[in-house]
Amino acid sequence: MKRREFIRKAGAGSLVVGAGLAGVRTAEAKAEIKWKMVTTWPRNFPGLGTGANKLAKVINEMSGGRMHVKVYGAKELVPAFEVFDAVARGTAEIGHGAAYYWKGKSETAQFFSTVPFGMTAQEMNGWLYFGGGLELWRELYKPFGLIPAPGGNTGMQMGGWFNKEIKSVRDLKGLKMRIPGLGGEVLKRAGGTPVNLPGGELFTSLQSGAIDATEWVNPYNDLAFGLFKAAKYYYYPGFHEPGTTMEAIINQKAFIALPKDLQAIALNACKIANQEMLAEYTARNPAALKTLVEKHKVDIRTYPGDVLETLRKYSREVVEELARKDAFAKKVHDSYMDFLEGSREWGSISDFAYLQARDKA
Ligand code: CA
Repeated sequence: MKRREFIRKAGAGSLVVGAGLAGVRTAEAKAEIKWKMVTTWPRNFPGLGTGANKLAKVINEMSGGRMHVKVYGAKELVPAFEVFDAVARGTAEIGHGAAYYWKGKSETAQFFSTVPFGMTAQEMNGWLYFGGGLELWRELYKPFGLIPAPGGNTGMQMGGWFNKEIKSVRDLKGLKMRIPGLGGEVLKRAGGTPVNLPGGELFTSLQSGAIDATEWVNPYNDLAFGLFKAAKYYYYPGFHEPGTTMEAIINQKAFIALPKDLQAIALNACKIANQEMLAEYTARNPAALKTLVEKHKVDIRTYPGDVLETLRKYSREVVEELARKDAFAKKVHDSYMDFLEGSREWGSISDFAYLQARDKA
């Protein structure tokens, strides 16, 4: 290519890039309604952060540009664990996180993310959309001026990363582990010390020894954080998070101010984000697991049966105690448990029986 021709082509290229950026700015500037979305995830973090991006993108596109949602990663506008308050007070109109992060506001909120030895992703969606779960969730957040919606699901998580083998429940004693929600309470009962840290702080905390162990999500996310560089053993199953629902929270006043069609778009965009996140994890975990095992030589271990049995017993205690906190907690607990019971019976002759038959060696 002649030099002049090259310069001309390069110039044309940068012109196109420039026009693209201006296009984005115009779309935001032109929108009648501008919303800020705050999230508990690092910006663009695979699966979770990109799930939040997806939610914003769907709203922007479906509104035909009338509405523009701008996404802020953790700490960009507010710290990860201030998302709930920021949306409640209207600093941002919408947030993306997980309900168990807000147990300081209401312990009952934890039922809407995940329960140790509780429902899978598919069951959570059944309960939330058709089993009365979402109505209860909305009732719980109403006094905070917030409208919640399922906004993603990780599917089955892993047990976590440890630097020592877990041979018996005694090995959990004194263990300082990052594990949020009710799973943390279960660890406490087993003699451990649960701590809650935002995802962005896990790697350095584990590497520096500030914590002894951590759970995060599943192979796709855990590989992205490089947790295999800071711990030897990767345990399963994630008894504490068998299908965690992510949440979108919308400021009620901002929602009411929307025209009816944009209200429908915002809520339906949450459904799309909920579905897509689970599909993405389902698609990406197998390859990530392969990389962890084959390339990074991660030692995959299962919790021994008696450890799981003890953890199951503690889980039941923790959940039952939560149900005794107040009348609303009991109502949510009973709704959740009734649904789980029905699902258990059906599941045993459907998914469970089928997977056993399909994958029998
Ligand atoms: Ca987790």
